[in-house]
Amino acid sequence: MLKHPLAVALCAALAVSALPAFAQTRGTANAAPAASAQVPADNPLFVESTLDLRYPRFDLIQDAHFGPAFDAGMAENLREVEAIANNPEAPTFENTIIAMEKSGEVLSRARTIFSSLNGTDTNDARKKIDADYAPKFAVHRDAIMLNPKLFARIDTLYKNVDSLGLDAEGKRLVERYHTMFVRAGANLTEAQKNEMRRINAESAKLGTTFSQNVLNEVNDSAVVVDTVEELDGMSEAQIAAAANEAKSRGLDGKYVITLLNTTGQPPLPQINNRELRERIHKASVARGSRGNQFDNTGVIAQILKLRAERANLMGYPNQATFILEDSTAGTVQAVNDMLGQLAPAAVANAKLEAAELQAMIDREQAAKGEPTFQLEPWDWAYYSEKVRQDKYSFDDAQLKPYFEMKNVLENGVFFAATKLYGITFKERTDLPKYHPDTWTYEVKNEDGSDLAIFIFDPYARGSKRGGAWMNSYVSQSELDGTLTVTANHQNIPKPQAGQPTLLTWDEVTTMFHEFGHSLHGMFSDVKYPFFSGTSVPRDFVEFPSQVNEMWADWPEILANYAKHYQTGAAMPAELLEKVQAAAKFNQGFATTEYLGSAMLDQYLHQLPADQLPDADEVMATEAAALKAAGLDYAPVPPRYRTPYFSHINGGYAAGYYAYIWSEVLDANTVQWIEQNGGLTRANGDRFRSTLLSRGGSKDAKQLFVDFTGHEPKIEPLLIKRGLAPDPKDAAQ
Ligand SMILES: [Zn+2]
Repeated sequence: MLKHPLAVALCAALAVSALPAFAQTRGTANAAPAASAQVPADNPLFVESTLDLRYPRFDLIQDAHFGPAFDAGMAENLREVEAIANNPEAPTFENTIIAMEKSGEVLSRARTIFSSLNGTDTNDARKKIDADYAPKFAVHRDAIMLNPKLFARIDTLYKNVDSLGLDAEGKRLVERYHTMFVRAGANLTEAQKNEMRRINAESAKLGTTFSQNVLNEVNDSAVVVDTVEELDGMSEAQIAAAANEAKSRGLDGKYVITLLNTTGQPPLPQINNRELRERIHKASVARGSRGNQFDNTGVIAQILKLRAERANLMGYPNQATFILEDSTAGTVQAVNDMLGQLAPAAVANAKLEAAELQAMIDREQAAKGEPTFQLEPWDWAYYSEKVRQDKYSFDDAQLKPYFEMKNVLENGVFFAATKLYGITFKERTDLPKYHPDTWTYEVKNEDGSDLAIFIFDPYARGSKRGGAWMNSYVSQSELDGTLTVTANHQNIPKPQAGQPTLLTWDEVTTMFHEFGHSLHGMFSDVKYPFFSGTSVPRDFVEFPSQVNEMWADWPEILANYAKHYQTGAAMPAELLEKVQAAAKFNQGFATTEYLGSAMLDQYLHQLPADQLPDADEVMATEAAALKAAGLDYAPVPPRYRTPYFSHINGGYAAGYYAYIWSEVLDANTVQWIEQNGGLTRANGDRFRSTLLSRGGSKDAKQLFVDFTGHEPKIEPLLIKRGLAPDPKDAAQ
């Protein structure tokens, strides 16, 4: 099935929300907030919401509620944990593990809501709370994870786990708790623990600075254009949006092109003015290393050193070895082998593509009677769009009228879920919103019982972080008696008032992708919160979401939603055929820019502490990493450069490879589904029962094997990415 050339939906599922409040690493100081620990009755974060499925009280929550809820929540959590640790009775599963699972209710609720609102709609108050509390949460987490009495109880249970009379999920919970505590440093000496506390608090502070700098740089690097002539090639609506953006910045009469947090920028395929393309590209890649107040090179250099120190403290040679030990990949070697296997084929493909682009440039310049020029990074998107139109005679502008946003959501994404799983959707307008540009739906099982509430938050805005992601406000567990409240976020440009939102094919597949994460959240059917939904290894979490992308162009699904927004006419078959014929076009570029960042992430986290770069060496080290990997191909820079590589600041440090690792599982699964009847309720039910509903309650690779019946193979991925010949093509 078709995969759009650029449909590498590199989103992040924020799996942290399902972890116990104390175990969340992002977003923490001095855990002795005695005075504010009193519970003000009017703080909505202190009480369970009485709305359906505990949907958050966005109508009542104010920014001023977060600080007191964090302070009181940490104090309450510490009291609970002290009581568990100091319990005079011998440790049991109930009085230790289950008691931990139930602890930290207020803190968990407040942090879950805050981290989502801060990501999707931040403001100065939220930025300040984030910066103030990141180190406090780190201290709080350490106060629990490094508590020797608590760990002694968990260790006793772990050593006797077979005699506790637990089922498989309970047994796994004990094992995972033990691993989590050991990996947080529970086995260290007291002196080492102090060192760990210092590292964690400093890292937390730096992490917040890094992400705030990234957002500030995106806003600060927007490109100001003086004349409308320079925008030749952009649509009227895009030009109007650029004029409006200028006005909102006090630059009346000018035009402002805003950036996304990737190296490539959306308007580049359209802009005919080569100088402007160059300016936009250079503004994009300079972010975070410009020597201004938002420069991130010093911040990332310190973060990398602290991580290496922590890994050493834990007895590992570097951060990557430490991180990968607890992944499905398992070792640095396995990841290096996998990426190393892909890199030469990807670059070779990119070079073939570049030759076509260069030929197009030479032809065009000759026709104009002007001297030709060398293909540069800012030319790639522009000329690849031309080559695509030349080869397949269609462009994104022809497709977009068939992809009106809400229609794609309801008659595409939801329709596919109904076909596969029998679930149904109904819009709810009575529930409070945190932002007017959001839509809320209730989701029911086939038998009419409640399944979940889903929030759709599609538009880009200056207060929203880059990319696309899913999060859960409430996570399912039998222990808490909860179902899921989940949200999807994208950065789709918002049209002028009264204009329809027409999507690119990339945005369409991203919508299916993010909803795949939400299905993983809402189908969760586990006992313990620890295992809920997307609480799975990083290199597994992108797998179900990638599988859901396969339905975007499944004929029956596509026919249901790809209709012209004005006439209602179905997308012409020949247009669809052209799109499908172009499926592997530009995959050399897409794979190379992704691998550049994936290799960079591994390189930086595989260096021993004494070889890590200082601030002024960060960019040179990046260049060295790309060269070492054979990915130093100038026309295709990495998708993210070090100073704006948000993934390596958040949970994907030494884990950015996870997307392609997950894609191996995805490609195998898509092949299985295609060979076993495709879009059927039986296949949906099988995927739901063996995999989507299991969350982290079973070994991740076993879940894959349960569904497909075999170990993962690499060939389906190579074929999908155009890196190996497709047997289907050979047969024709
Ligand atoms: Zn994703």
